[in-house]
Amino acid sequence: MPVPQACSRFEFSEPHMGTMFKIVLYAPDPALAAAASRAAFDRIAALDRIMSDYDANSELMRLCRAAGGPAVEISADLLRVMTAAQELSRRSDGAFDITVGPVVQLWRRARRRHELPEGDRLAAARELVGYGNVHLDPKVQRAQLLKPGMRLDLGGIAKGDAADQALVVLQRHYVTQALVAAAGDIATDDPPPGRNWEIGIETFESPDLPPSRFIGLHNRAVSTSGDSEQHVEIGGVRYSHIVDPKTGMALTGRRSVTVTASQGITADCYATALCVLGHERALQLVRGTPGAAALITEDESGAVHEYRSSEFPPMTSSGSADAK
Ligand code: ADP
Ligand code: MG
Repeated sequence: MPVPQACSRFEFSEPHMGTMFKIVLYAPDPALAAAASRAAFDRIAALDRIMSDYDANSELMRLCRAAGGPAVEISADLLRVMTAAQELSRRSDGAFDITVGPVVQLWRRARRRHELPEGDRLAAARELVGYGNVHLDPKVQRAQLLKPGMRLDLGGIAKGDAADQALVVLQRHYVTQALVAAAGDIATDDPPPGRNWEIGIETFESPDLPPSRFIGLHNRAVSTSGDSEQHVEIGGVRYSHIVDPKTGMALTGRRSVTVTASQGITADCYATALCVLGHERALQLVRGTPGAAALITEDESGAVHEYRSSEFPPMTSSGSADAK
């Protein structure tokens, strides 16, 4: 173990996974900080090459091309993420479902063209959705997609996982006072000297303003999902980039969900799932999940309501956010 030394704060940003990743860390010197963050970003880039559904050569897309065929071997990274996704699919009764790929594709097109997906296309895409059609065999590290045409989408889970994995890499470089933020998916390790990591809570009421509420945490993760950034308005209705796997429809009500959990991978996929579930079932699911807590803001016909599970960290109104 290295001898403890006075540490300074360093901040690094790089684009990955279609968003900006930020690493904040405390290290005794710039060279160590640079080397540690370089290795962490490299790990994130490697995970992106595995999980991306924009890259036809990603391991994920290769698995999708084998849909309808026999099981194929997958990497430990893909197995970890798919296992966590399947577990939450079961727990959320399919509100979170990585087999939404074909439906998400149609909604991405809708966003580009400002036109709703056609009903028959949506119906055909929905036929391919169902987490029960994914078989994982962890012992031999294999996955099988049962229906031809299935397409997986890890957009609701991969960033939180990448934040976790980046912290692991930083630890290997003896950096433990660190925070990794993939936009709204944040994982933290040990706190900065003498204080907590401060996370700004954004709600859809004021996405462009600096956050007015903050939570403090360390050795935990926090993720926010909602419609504040990625949505499309068609015919006066806002459609979210999150879809209900049961109906194939993009979510329309305005909501913002912030989840705290022990791991980034959990916080990320839970935040997406809770958006789909609506506040009552969402709170039920969170209360049944040790270590998880949620803050849910919903706009119900113009009236904003907030729901919070009892273990959600106390919020303060002043602070300077390390991330938001
Ligand atoms: P963000 O990417 O803005 O952080 P999320 O973590 O909530 O937001 O992930 C949203 C992404 O997850 C969508 O863009 C889509 O790729 C995918 N997705 C949408 N709906 C679902 C769902 N019901 N279950 C799993 N993944 C989903
Ligand atoms: Mg998510």
